[in-house]
Amino acid sequence: MIIVLRSDVSGTEEAPLVSFLSGRGIVFSRMLMEGCVVYVCTSCPGEDVCQMIRGFSIVEKLIPVDRKPLLCESEGSSFEYAGIVLGRDLCVIAGPCAVQEDQDLDALALKAASAGARMFRAGAFKPRTSPYAFQGLGRQALERIAAAGKRSGLPTVCEIPSESYLDSFRDIDILQVGAHNMQNFELLKALGRCGKPVLLKRGAGSTVDELMYACEYIFSGGNERVILCERGIRTFETVSRNTLDVSAIAALRARTGLPVFADPSHAAGERRLVSALSLAAVAAGADGLMIETSDRAEKALSDSAQAIDHETLAGIIRKASAIREIL
Ligand code: PEP
Ligand code: MN
Repeated sequence: MIIVLRSDVSGTEEAPLVSFLSGRGIVFSRMLMEGCVVYVCTSCPGEDVCQMIRGFSIVEKLIPVDRKPLLCESEGSSFEYAGIVLGRDLCVIAGPCAVQEDQDLDALALKAASAGARMFRAGAFKPRTSPYAFQGLGRQALERIAAAGKRSGLPTVCEIPSESYLDSFRDIDILQVGAHNMQNFELLKALGRCGKPVLLKRGAGSTVDELMYACEYIFSGGNERVILCERGIRTFETVSRNTLDVSAIAALRARTGLPVFADPSHAAGERRLVSALSLAAVAAGADGLMIETSDRAEKALSDSAQAIDHETLAGIIRKASAIREIL
């Protein structure tokens, strides 16, 4: 780690920082670099100590050097689930944004399966911006999702809102952490001990590093079956709901052997963009896609504008498989 001091700092102002560093056994060489004093440290202390160093008013910034890789970077790898090797076989997860009363969920799962999807998704507890918007059917939806998964032969994926629901999710195969919950650390810790694979979505305002640290919470609890999912980030651009960060897909691919997925639906926000974003994600190295589908999108109580039909889904899966083949 390199500590860069502010350019206007005088020698006497350095004393408290020097004694803080030596008090913690941090060995460093003091050098002058482009007019600034820098301390080149022989080790990188933990984040809590770095935070304290940043708190010294004479410190301009810290530059990490040769960071020790996280467990999820060094140990993360593809894994098999229900006959699918996640991280190797292209895997599309499809299904409606949310379970609704007026919906034949079994039929939706069967249609997703015939279109080539390998897993079925549907929401039970919906994280909505407005408390007055449809919040999902809650626990009763979980039974219907599990039943639809069984009838179609597809493993199920559903977003878990907090660790207190773990028991209710016992019949759901893969637990999803939603973008709004990516840094819900108590949930991440509980998922580290839950024994089920986790699909971890990137927060719309989170960096790739923060996503990796969130993943590390799950890993450090002993659960190494994590799927990372880029789902669009908030930028100044308003042409789409979020901006699909294709560079993040390539960067995650380079940093970890874990399966990397993309959710083009929440990135796009409108159905006509979903196909192009899906193919771009796979071309950038995504191992799978999570896509919202519906056979009556106009009746959907959440995210109706981005739901695609099953014919479009089949077309995306055909083309995405061809791209994957080339790679
Ligand atoms: C979802 O997948 O239904 C969802 C709410 O997505 P996100 O957490 O990415 O907004
Ligand atoms: Mn949705």
